[in-house]
Amino acid sequence: MMRAAVLDDHGFTVRDAPEPAAPGPGEALVAPVRVGICGSDAHFVIDGSAKTDYRPIVLGHEAAGEVVALGPDTDGPAPGTRVALIPLVTCQECDRCLAGRSVLCLQRQCLGAEREGAFAERILLPARNLVPIPDGLSWELAAVATDSVATAYHAVVARGGAREGSRVVVWGTGGLGLSAVGIAKAVGAAEVVAVDLREDAREWALETGADAAYHPDEALERIGGRMDVALEFVGRSSTVEGAVRSLDDGGRAVVVGIGHEPAAAGRLITFVMRERELVGSYGNEPEEVGAVLELMASGKLVLPRVVGDVIPLADVAAGVERVHRGQTGGSRIVVDITA
Ligand SMILES: [Zn+2]
Ligand SMILES: [Zn+2]
Repeated sequence: MMRAAVLDDHGFTVRDAPEPAAPGPGEALVAPVRVGICGSDAHFVIDGSAKTDYRPIVLGHEAAGEVVALGPDTDGPAPGTRVALIPLVTCQECDRCLAGRSVLCLQRQCLGAEREGAFAERILLPARNLVPIPDGLSWELAAVATDSVATAYHAVVARGGAREGSRVVVWGTGGLGLSAVGIAKAVGAAEVVAVDLREDAREWALETGADAAYHPDEALERIGGRMDVALEFVGRSSTVEGAVRSLDDGGRAVVVGIGHEPAAAGRLITFVMRERELVGSYGNEPEEVGAVLELMASGKLVLPRVVGDVIPLADVAAGVERVHRGQTGGSRIVVDITA
């Protein structure tokens, strides 16, 4: 048996659970060391706005750990290697995977949502989901790189197309948006502007490298109609509209915030005559986790706030409660599985 944080019909508790089977061909057994608590975990456990039908389930999908064993005839990092765990297990066979869009894989399973997760002493997963952690990068940063930071990277770089010289605005800098600010700077954006209702979130954005930070009431007066890329991390109609109205002709707005309300994104003619775009962004492609780890290890991407409190596995339920209440100070709470 092993210690694990398990969600079942009675609740979310740390208890003894069966260890995974020995790894088969193509698989690896990993001992998680640090695992971040994601907003999705709070949705699964507390508010139900994201669901998992897999019960009982070990939660946790933002993980770094040590390789314990590889299956027979399996290529992968040797036992003892420090690895980050790519959270999405994809088939690599469907049309979408073959087209390099495995984030949309028809058979995708996320760790800790559609299969067993990493809030546990052991996890079994495909060896191709392991990325060695560059020397000098901490366990905590490697863990949050896999989901929180890589999701922001996918939105800024792949979906938003931000690059050297881009003018970028980030709507919502209380969490993932903060990583987006740092990533936009790291890829050479000429100007990075943050927009948030909360004064503390605006300060965090400045601390992460934003050139300016505005309250939504004044943002459009300052930046309306001149940004190349607008990222929306809130998931509300008003911020989606604000993101679109931030854009220069030909600009692109990227919605990352998950919300259920219908959105009014502005007059259709502004998309047609001005060739503005509005796209969604979800999760990240496997190779983007490696890119993010390299950017962080090289010192080009510095996220002073991304890691917050580190708590023992026994306290994970209280940590999830804090995430649900938004009491994380713009940081990820990270669980120490070895404590
Ligand atoms: Zn997540
Ligand atoms: Zn696939």
